[in-house]
Amino acid sequence: MKQNVTELYGSLVFNDAVMRDKLPKDIYKALKKTIENSTHLELDVANAVAVAMKEWAVEHGATHFTHWFQPMTGFTAEKHDSFISPVGNGEVIMDFSGKELIKGEPDASSFPSGGLRATFEARGYTAWDPTSPAFIKDRTLYIPTAFCSYSGEALDKKTPLLRSMEALNREATKILHLLGNTEVTGVSTTVGPEQEYFLIDKEAFKKRRDLIFTGRTLLGAMPPKGQEMEDHYFGALKPRVAEYMHDLDKELWKLGIPAKTKHNEVAPSQHELAPVFDTTNVAVDHNQLTMEIMKKVAEKHGFVCLLHEKPFDGINGSGKHNNWSMTTNQGDNLLDPGKTPADNIQFLVFLMAVIKAVDEYADLMRLSAASAGNDHRLGANEAPPAIVSIFLGEELTEVLKSIENDTFFNEQGRVPMETGATVLPHFYKDTTDRNRTSPFAFTGNKFEFRMLGSAINVAGPNIVLNTAVAEALSQFYEELSGQEDMEKAVHELVKRAIVKHKKVIFNGNGYTDEWVAEAEKRGLYNLKSTPDVLPVFKDPKNVKLFTKHGIFTESEIDSRYEILLENYSKTIHIEALTLLDMLKHDFLPAVSKFSDKVSKEAMQKKSIDESLSVASEKKLLQLCSESMDKLYDMAEELAADVTKAESMEELDQARFYHDEILVKMEDIRAIADKVEEYIPSELMPYPSYSDMLFYV
Ligand code: ADP
Ligand code: MG
Repeated sequence: MKQNVTELYGSLVFNDAVMRDKLPKDIYKALKKTIENSTHLELDVANAVAVAMKEWAVEHGATHFTHWFQPMTGFTAEKHDSFISPVGNGEVIMDFSGKELIKGEPDASSFPSGGLRATFEARGYTAWDPTSPAFIKDRTLYIPTAFCSYSGEALDKKTPLLRSMEALNREATKILHLLGNTEVTGVSTTVGPEQEYFLIDKEAFKKRRDLIFTGRTLLGAMPPKGQEMEDHYFGALKPRVAEYMHDLDKELWKLGIPAKTKHNEVAPSQHELAPVFDTTNVAVDHNQLTMEIMKKVAEKHGFVCLLHEKPFDGINGSGKHNNWSMTTNQGDNLLDPGKTPADNIQFLVFLMAVIKAVDEYADLMRLSAASAGNDHRLGANEAPPAIVSIFLGEELTEVLKSIENDTFFNEQGRVPMETGATVLPHFYKDTTDRNRTSPFAFTGNKFEFRMLGSAINVAGPNIVLNTAVAEALSQFYEELSGQEDMEKAVHELVKRAIVKHKKVIFNGNGYTDEWVAEAEKRGLYNLKSTPDVLPVFKDPKNVKLFTKHGIFTESEIDSRYEILLENYSKTIHIEALTLLDMLKHDFLPAVSKFSDKVSKEAMQKKSIDESLSVASEKKLLQLCSESMDKLYDMAEELAADVTKAESMEELDQARFYHDEILVKMEDIRAIADKVEEYIPSELMPYPSYSDMLFYV
């Protein structure tokens, strides 16, 4: 095992250095051209790449290859084929062709398609995405691919993501040229996702069916100590956790995933990992891999890694922060304010485009963060509210205000601007304090979208961001093209845009009730739950956005909407059944045993001395008996509702799961958790919150 980190890093990746080393020069050049300009790849080039890839993979111990894709399940999918090819005489050679590299045909009929693929043409196909490097894992060569139906409809998360990156590239490059920055030939978006997770002991996990089946606890009283002491956040790592993190880093580095930061989070047993940012497409693939490797390495260390957004009630849940920016092919970050007035013009146009995009498509942004798991976080006092707003910081807000009011901004404050002056204010990087309560915050040279849940594939939010910003840029292009005095035109454009979109800017505390009231006055969306937000996908304005930029066709939107709804209902369905199962098989029998024990003790006392008090036993028996009666009735009602839900459809069904079933589950939990406080540890049928959260 190599120990040197620089040697270890990327050692299992078919990256640029390996390609340069292994490929004939002309083939390397042709492939680079394809990667950089998304041009068509000739079969002879693909064949040569396949041979080099196979040789490299076999050298590194691989025996199989797989097309690796991201179907609508939210997980990644793979189907392994070995390299062996019989050559007669019972012998084989290791073989891999350009055709096998470029295209695969997984039997895809059981992946969700939302009605896109009729069963008679159930075979989708996977197509190599050369912009994300291939890698080796578990003796298999992994080839990142897009997954489509034979009629070309996207069945995955990568295809629309690549389309959205292309749309942004097109619009951003166009406007940069208009602004005089003609050197730039391409713009890509960059993402750095910060990932939160819980680690709990594997033995404890195995005893809780709720964690096994649903990823979250459906029952469980709060421990005497929660997170109120705030002693866990950035606290010293426990040795076992430190070992895990070390091992995790190493596994990620081998795959060329630039894991950078690790620390304890707010809740007990909660941690975070952040990589250095990358091109969006690669960052998305890496985040999917990171989540998978987190779970795998946890197993090795006797842990289970929980990625659910809310594994423990009453304890902070887990999110993911999507740091996002745009960068030119020359490496300039377009959200970096820069130091010259010309830089500033460019910066202001791109900044304003993001503000406009988020204001006009706040509903889609919210949609992109919606899931049954994340519903437990958004709007609670730990995650940003369900309302999408933008934090800009004092200085930048002042700059925009000065443009709006035609006053000149300088370090001392605002001074009146001379009439006719067209010079844009000069300012530096924002230095104000970070606002941790904002769902979408400008943090110096990037935006941080903080609404996402920990388990989500970050493709979704980035599809929305890229597309909405591309649309804003395309509108700005129309407004600016043909203008003589570009500085003046930009100034006027920013002024118009800020008047229109300033309602989405909010620098205050997003966790307060005042903000909820204020946001309503401003006319901002407050879409609280997944069933509330899903219908916005089909809103004509949003359909128009996606179809105009070629991200989704109408039928792709319909299918995705259906999949999201179904996924939501299924999730709650499984949760309800799991809760019933635990009540009937674990919890109620435990309460019954407890009652039995208490009554035996009371009788024993009485048999020793008739005058001894059994008041406390009586109280306990009463609590148990009343709770059991209630829980039996409620369980029956819940079961009846679940049956009722099965005959419902689409949005009605999802709403019913949200409004009726989830509420009943919470009522059941409240009663059960009260009794749990009294049940002796040895009678508890599964590990308690204390056992899980404080014994790692
Ligand atoms: P924090 O938000 O915790 O203070 P940082 O600001 O250092 O941490 O960065 C958080 C994440 O943002 C990291 O993953 C980092 O790589 C990423 N990041 C930094 N710059 C950019 C950028 N231009 N585009 C996208 N992500 C970025
Ligand atoms: Mg952050």
